Amino acid sequence: MAQFIFVTGGVVSSLGKGLASASLASLLQHHGYKVRIRKLDPYLNVDPGTMSPYQHGEVYVTDDGAETDLDLGHYERFTGVTSKKSDNITSGKVYQKIIAKERKGEYLGATVQVIPHVTNEIKEFVSKDLGDEDFVICEIGGTIGDIESLPFIEAIRQFHNDNGHENSLFMHVTLVPYIASSGELKTKPTQHSVKELRSLGIQPNILLCRADREIPEDERRKIGLFCNVKGDCVIPAINANSIYEVPINFLNEGLDKRVLEYFRLEYKKEIDLKMWSQVSKRILEPEGSVEIGIVGKYTGLADAYKSLNEALSHGGIYNNVKVKLNWIESEELNSSNIENKLNNCHGILVPGGFGERGAEGKITAIKYARENKIPYFGICFGMQLAVIEMARNILGIKEANSSEFADCKESIVGLMTEWSNIDNTTEKRTKESDLGGTMRLGAYDAKLKNNSKVREIYDAELISERHRHRYEVNNNYAKDFESNGVHFSGYSPDGLLPEIVELKNHPWFIGVQFHPELKSKPFDPHPLFKSFIEAAKNKT
Ligand code: GLN
Repeated sequence: MAQFIFVTGGVVSSLGKGLASASLASLLQHHGYKVRIRKLDPYLNVDPGTMSPYQHGEVYVTDDGAETDLDLGHYERFTGVTSKKSDNITSGKVYQKIIAKERKGEYLGATVQVIPHVTNEIKEFVSKDLGDEDFVICEIGGTIGDIESLPFIEAIRQFHNDNGHENSLFMHVTLVPYIASSGELKTKPTQHSVKELRSLGIQPNILLCRADREIPEDERRKIGLFCNVKGDCVIPAINANSIYEVPINFLNEGLDKRVLEYFRLEYKKEIDLKMWSQVSKRILEPEGSVEIGIVGKYTGLADAYKSLNEALSHGGIYNNVKVKLNWIESEELNSSNIENKLNNCHGILVPGGFGERGAEGKITAIKYARENKIPYFGICFGMQLAVIEMARNILGIKEANSSEFADCKESIVGLMTEWSNIDNTTEKRTKESDLGGTMRLGAYDAKLKNNSKVREIYDAELISERHRHRYEVNNNYAKDFESNGVHFSGYSPDGLLPEIVELKNHPWFIGVQFHPELKSKPFDPHPLFKSFIEAAKNKT
C-alpha cells in the first residue's frame, strides 16, 4: 500500500503549499519512489471551470479532460507525472455525488450527515484510482480554521486512524513572520495554528516554516516544544530566488530524510539534484533577454496565466535568455496607442480567453504583429481572433467575427455543436447547454501537414495537446485563406476541426486551438515555446 502525506496550511494563505508538495514529491522521486499528488479543495464549486481567473487563478486542464486547480500544474511541472481527473476533488463534487445518491434512495433511509457520509466520500477519493505509487501526497486547500475545510480535516484524521499511524504523515506549512519593530521572528502564529490543528485531532509530524530569513536554532526548538513536534522536524522554508531552488533548499534542510525516517524507509543515498540546479542557474543567470507583450484581460493577476508564464520562462531556459513579460490590458489598446505600447516587444502573444470585452484590442495587436513581422503566438482565443483579423484584413470580410459575441453574419469562429470524443462517442452541444464542464476538454490528437512550420517545430506528424474551448474556426473559409498565404497546418485526425493556423510570409506567426502551455516542463520545455522565444531572440 502507498504511504500518504497530508499537507495542510496555517496562519495565512499563499504560503506555497502546492510548491512545497511538488518539491517534496520531486525529492522522493529522486530517491527512486513513485509519487502521485492530489488536491482537496474545500470550496463549493464542483470545479474551478466556471470561476473567474480573478477568483481562482488559472484553470488547469488534465489530459483526461478535468478542469482543475492550478496547483495540479505545479505538480506536473515538478514531477512530470500526468495528473488525472481523480487527482482533484472539491466540496461541490462531494456534495453533488452525495445528493445524487440520496435522491436515488441509496442511503436506505439513513440521515445523510457530514460524518460519516461526507468524510467517507473524501476518504474514498484519497485512496481511489491508484496504481503502484509508493507515496500519495494530498494537499488540502485553504487555511486551518476555515469552516469549509473542517470535513476534509476530519476525513484525513480518520484516514490516519483507519490506516495505521505509520502509513500516513501530516505536514503543516506555516508562517514565521519577521516583526521589524522588535527585530525578531515570531513563532506565536505557528503555535496558534498548530493548536487549532491539534484541537481538530491532528498532530503534525513535520512543520514547514516559511520565513524571509534564517530561523535561529533556538526559535526552531521553541516551535518544536510548543507544537509537540521533534526539533529536527521543524524545517525552515526560506524564500527562494527561484521556485526551482525549493527542492534543493528542502534537501539541504533534510526534509526528505525526515519523511523517509518517519516511514522507516532507508535513506539510501545522497541524491543529485543537478536537474534543478541547472534550471535555476539558467533562470538566475541568463545571457540575454527578450520582451514578450501579452495582450490579455486579466493582466493584473499573474496567477490567471500561471502555466503560460511558466511555459514562456521554460522557452527562456532553453534559449538561455530571461523572458520579460509586458502585460498589456487589451481593453486599453487601440490603433493610436499600439505603436507606443508594443514597439519594444520582440514577440506578441494573445492567450486563451472568453467573451467580447477586450477582443477588439487583441485583434488590433494581432494586426500589428502580422504587419510588422513581429513573432506572434496565438493560443486558443488568440488563434480564433487571429483568424478573424486575417478574414477582415486579408480576405476583406469586414463583418468577420465570432458567434461567441453575437449572432454575426460571417461566423469565422462558430459554436462547436458536435465533435468526436477520444473514445469515439459523439459530443453534442447547443447554445442553451450548461456552461460548467461542457467545453471540448482534455487531450485530443492533431495531424500536422508536411512542409509546415509546426511539422518542423514538433518534428512529428501526430501530436496530442490539451483543449478547453467551446468555439471553433469555421473550416468553410479554409480555401480562401490558403490561397492568400494563411495555412491551416494542423487538423483533428478526421480532418474536420482546424487546430493550427500559420502564416507563410512571416518570420513566426502561429495560432493553436489548444493550450500547449499546460504540458511544458522546466526540464522539458514545450517545442512551440522553445521556437517562439528563439524567434523573439532573433529580433533582439
Ligand atoms: N472563448 C473561446 C472558446 O470558447 C476560446 C477559449 C479559450 O481561449 N480557452 O472557444
